[in-house]
Amino acid sequence: MSNFKNKVLIVGAGPTGLVCALSLAKKGIDVEVFEKLPDRAYDLRASTIHPPTMQMLADLGIIDELINQGITSPFWQFRDRKEGALAIFDMSVMKDDVKYPFRLQCEQFKVTAELLKSLKNYPNAKVNFYHEAKNVIQDENEVTLTLEYQGNDIRVKGNYLIAADGASSIIRHCLNINFEGYTFPERFLILSTPYEFKDIIPDLSISNYISDPDEWLVMLRVKEFWRVLFPTIPGENEVDIMNASNLQNKLKNISNLESDMEIAHQTLYHVHQRVATNYRVGRVLLAGDAAHINNPLGGMGMNGGIHDAVNLSEKLISVLEGANDHLLDRYSRQRRTVAIDYVQQWTVRNREILKEKDPAIRKNNLDELRKLSENKELTLKYLRKTSMLASLELAESIE
Ligand SMILES: Cc1cc2nc3c(=O)[nH]c(=O)nc-3n(C[C@H](O)[C@H](O)[C@H](O)COP(=O)(O)OP(=O)(O)OC[C@H]3O[C@@H](n4cnc5c(N)ncnc54)[C@H](O)[C@@H]3O)c2cc1C
Repeated sequence: MSNFKNKVLIVGAGPTGLVCALSLAKKGIDVEVFEKLPDRAYDLRASTIHPPTMQMLADLGIIDELINQGITSPFWQFRDRKEGALAIFDMSVMKDDVKYPFRLQCEQFKVTAELLKSLKNYPNAKVNFYHEAKNVIQDENEVTLTLEYQGNDIRVKGNYLIAADGASSIIRHCLNINFEGYTFPERFLILSTPYEFKDIIPDLSISNYISDPDEWLVMLRVKEFWRVLFPTIPGENEVDIMNASNLQNKLKNISNLESDMEIAHQTLYHVHQRVATNYRVGRVLLAGDAAHINNPLGGMGMNGGIHDAVNLSEKLISVLEGANDHLLDRYSRQRRTVAIDYVQQWTVRNREILKEKDPAIRKNNLDELRKLSENKELTLKYLRKTSMLASLELAESIE
């Protein structure tokens, strides 16, 4: 028998791992998080938080702080690069379904900072930085995690282990779980600038998906910047893409601008659509990017990871309180189905709409979106899907 009581180990201090940690710690369960970096990741990644995720963060007690640090977005829109706004979606139609009928634009590093701050209130929660997971083994009673810390291997034991160690998850590799799917030929480039695009395009919303047969783009406002996402040409050399004048031209071409603008951040990354073949092997559970990854169009990556974390934590609490551990298989079935049948479908579809080249299909797609935005009932149905509310209902329907 193990000599500890109800201890959950978590690898990764991203949003998924930290939501698991806080959810479990609040219920009195001992949790220990291991993160290989010296601190939380500070790079610019996800920034869109959907209404049901806001509710989950409210339940954890951190939503007011995040709303203070972000921007609320009651509208979002599809545009055509040449024609301008085509379909503006008013999220207030969701007011009877959700407490927060808007999107919150708040960067991932602010979310993880608030989670870490809250975790400090729980003596049963410990977060260890500079600890890199290397291996995991398990028997019927416990898991043993091997970590590298200051050049030495150390071993830690727990009842369960949550692998929230991101897309290249070492734990997923240790368990020989396949990560099925594919990688897009083009990489995505994200540029952040303090330049105020609203001065020249006044009808921009906080979130804008801009379709174009030659170069589509997404413009998202966060507190300090506009974040602009562009696809790159497949096979294009990184040095050429990141060349300062190329970056300036991309931003200037948004609205025929002449002067250079400040670029505060630039990120170029490969984009994948992949889902793990199983989210559970015995006492080890995958969650977040370790379990599924998708393109960022629609902001479903971090949101989906937080939804995994809340679902998994609730079930782990029940199991640690004596429920049958088959409940954890239901977690895998529910969240895998959402990843495959919902998140993958929506994010791939979003990319197709934005990049469509055929004029007839483009017109059809954009007319459809306009129609959806002009009818309250259709808008509500559509926003329940884009906000991921319907994904939680899908999960609930799976036994
Ligand atoms: C470059 C980039 C840009 C992105 N941009 C967007 C975007 O614009 N919009 C959007 O919606 N989504 C975006 N995403 C996706 C989004 O950031 C993820 O869906 C989200 O971070 C998932 O959270 P997570 O906690 O599951 O994983 P992560 O945030 O990746 O966290 C995993 C953590 O585990 C740690 N870790 C990894 N291996 C180990 C180990 N062996 N031992 C200990 N710790 C380990 C990592 O250091 C990291 O802190 C982006 C992702 C990337 C990589």
